Amino acid sequence: MLKLRERNVWLGRAAANKAEAIRTVGRAMVESGFIEPGYIDSMLQREQVAATYLGSGIAIPHGLPAARHLVRATGIVVVQFPDGVAWADGERARVAVGIAARSDEHLQVLANLTGVLGDASAADRLARTSDPGEVIAALNGGASAPAAPQAVAPAGGSSIEVSSPSPHGLHARPATALVDVAKRFRAEIAVRHGEKTANGKSLVALLGLGAVGGARLTVSAAGDDAAAALEALGAAFAGGLGEAAAPQAPQAAPARPDRAPAAHDRAPAAAPLDYEGRVVAGISASPGLVEGPAWAFQRERIAVTETAADPAVQHRRLDQALAGAAVDLQQLHDELSKKAGAAKAAIFKAHLELLEDPDLVAVAHTRIDAGHSAGWAWRKVYEEGAGSLSRLDDPLLAARAADLRDVGRRVLRFLADSIESAASLPSHPVVLLADDLSPSDTAKLDPKQVLGLCTSVGGATSHTAIIARSLDIPAVVAAGPAALDVEDGEACILDGDAGVLVVRPTARDRARAEVRREQVLERREAERLDRFKPAITRDGRRVEVVANIGAPGEAQQAVDAGGEGVGLMRTEFLFLKRESPPSEDEQAEAYTTMVRALNGLPIILRTLDIGGDKHVPYLSMPAEGNPFLGVRGVRLCLAREDLFRTQLRAIFRASREGPVRLMYPMISMVEELAKAMEITEEVRREIGADPIEIGIMIEVPSAVMIADRLAREVSFFSIGTNDLTQYVLAMDRQHPTLASQADGLHPAVLRMIELTASAARQAGIWVGACGGIAGDPAGTVVLAGLGLVELSVSIPSIAATKALLRGITMAGAEDIARRALACGTAAEVRALVQGAQGVAA
Ligand code: PEP
Ligand code: MG
Repeated sequence: MLKLRERNVWLGRAAANKAEAIRTVGRAMVESGFIEPGYIDSMLQREQVAATYLGSGIAIPHGLPAARHLVRATGIVVVQFPDGVAWADGERARVAVGIAARSDEHLQVLANLTGVLGDASAADRLARTSDPGEVIAALNGGASAPAAPQAVAPAGGSSIEVSSPSPHGLHARPATALVDVAKRFRAEIAVRHGEKTANGKSLVALLGLGAVGGARLTVSAAGDDAAAALEALGAAFAGGLGEAAAPQAPQAAPARPDRAPAAHDRAPAAAPLDYEGRVVAGISASPGLVEGPAWAFQRERIAVTETAADPAVQHRRLDQALAGAAVDLQQLHDELSKKAGAAKAAIFKAHLELLEDPDLVAVAHTRIDAGHSAGWAWRKVYEEGAGSLSRLDDPLLAARAADLRDVGRRVLRFLADSIESAASLPSHPVVLLADDLSPSDTAKLDPKQVLGLCTSVGGATSHTAIIARSLDIPAVVAAGPAALDVEDGEACILDGDAGVLVVRPTARDRARAEVRREQVLERREAERLDRFKPAITRDGRRVEVVANIGAPGEAQQAVDAGGEGVGLMRTEFLFLKRESPPSEDEQAEAYTTMVRALNGLPIILRTLDIGGDKHVPYLSMPAEGNPFLGVRGVRLCLAREDLFRTQLRAIFRASREGPVRLMYPMISMVEELAKAMEITEEVRREIGADPIEIGIMIEVPSAVMIADRLAREVSFFSIGTNDLTQYVLAMDRQHPTLASQADGLHPAVLRMIELTASAARQAGIWVGACGGIAGDPAGTVVLAGLGLVELSVSIPSIAATKALLRGITMAGAEDIARRALACGTAAEVRALVQGAQGVAA
């Protein structure tokens, strides 16, 4: 454990600015023999990446990981600046704790600091004291006043002796595990380490114990289930509090090596960069690499006043808010448990536990006594709690910090003076972080202000991801709660190719990202210049590359981007973000605009595909347990013939202006197709329009299996690999944990595509694809090799897809496709394509 000695404490210093202060701290570290002088530069660079201000006037300057070789010996120094130094965002540091650490030892110091951080008077004493002993006592785990009330061992209980887990002691992760066990019992539980005693159900208090690996701890419990609690806690300590287990959270790794790249429209330009900042791993949903400040997307803003004159009323309000939030959480838990099972509902149980953290509640009440309103006091407490958890830089705690903010906001809503419900959008360029974004939230984003986005849930084939791709916004989805545990304004790199968010990137991270960005820009520019050339393979076979669009204005963009038509217009987007369905005239105008923009190039208008993840409130469709297996796609068209007929009329009117093809979504049975065609023919006659080509989406396994039968009725098939993948693999396309495995290059999906293609061939109709893998380079090669003659991709991917096809031979692609069908896993297919010689240019 790091120990502070008198010679490491420099009191009563002054500095004109932060750089000067850091140099002073660096000098103290050099003189203490902890670092080489060169490390000071790295400390200054670290502040450029992310300020090391912790709170309560305390900063912890230290160098970047890359400079660890300049650390001679692990150690800390304390330099006091009683007049303060401007450090970050208007905050002044009065105590700087300089850290020289080769590994994670500084966590221990942070643990000791938690006692001072939440207590303004203790922090103030440290900033003014002329007694080095007082500083030493605080940081070595001695006499400082703790943030939360010190626990005492419960009276009348029993206790056990245990050892703090090795090698790193009771740091964030094991402490979380300990709280989890303690909270299962009603008994009061305390953990004593030397002179300090912490409430065993309070994470922050346990971290404040600063118990190093192997330290002796006394765990006491009192209450009716005390014996059972001690038994469980003893077993948990004996098991190492999860420390021996493999790391649970993926956030620390730049990318999971066993994870196949997601089915997005561009492959990683190169191997993932080896980032040094905090890496939050998710799934790549839209390619590109950007850098900018974090910005949390919120659908509401909660206002509270700072002070209140009536503490008794405020205490009551806080208790009522906590109780109200607990009732809500219990209800949510019970409802979700019934609908989706206990595992999915467990998150609300965990939130209930956080609500019951006795120390948080106690500190909030203390703040009310000091004259603050219940709302202000509560917000301060949970924000500070979440902030100090996240600063500990532990992936597991990062998740807890996000949970704490979530629960905190739930309570805060009960205490709000006002709640503004409109979702706010950034007014400056940011990396947007959100729990989830609905397709309509995403569609509202301005690519000039949203450089990149990262969501904690979602999947690569969700419509949110599809829209992000069409807007050319790099995106990472399914990054877990850690994605939300980033302070607004914190520097981030969003690497949509590798599927990671990098928080507080180092200077090296930034430099390497910049190089990567330059390379990508150069390649994209070359592809852009050739975008109007047809995609003819080196052995002379043509594949049409067309666009997936969702709005009238995108037709022109598709043409400008080199698109040879539109292979999928998702007409349902015209129905979102409004209070009533678009009229026939409105739709006719929208479709006509597109047809005219295409100027003779074909467009496939897909009829309404609402349901699944696209909800339209004004349709008042009953909520469904399994919306993806419910009334969506053509099923909705047939259930709401009024909407269907209106849309068909508009489509036939537009068809007078140019080559329009009609496509039904999600056909799964012959009867559906027959009914849809019957209605279509009736409408065509009513309008007096000429017949047009009619095709269907093949995106349900049943349609594949009867493709020969369906092919007799239609002019073309377009394979929707997004849905086909989810239905073949039985993995919800938006599932936060399964979505990464739902890869459209899975051999099971490819075999379905092969069956479809051969049925189409035999029936003499053409077949294309419009799902995400059509624009994924590996997917482009395999689908072309399987005989698909049209690939419909997002607009930003058109030029790259054409360039890729121009660089391969069809014979090579066919060979790869044949071998892909024989693979066992999607990863094998991807490796096969990547390793194939003579195919890629
Ligand atoms: C698909 O399922 O692959 C598809 C293109 O349709 P959507 O993504 O709109 O469901
Ligand atoms: Mg679909």
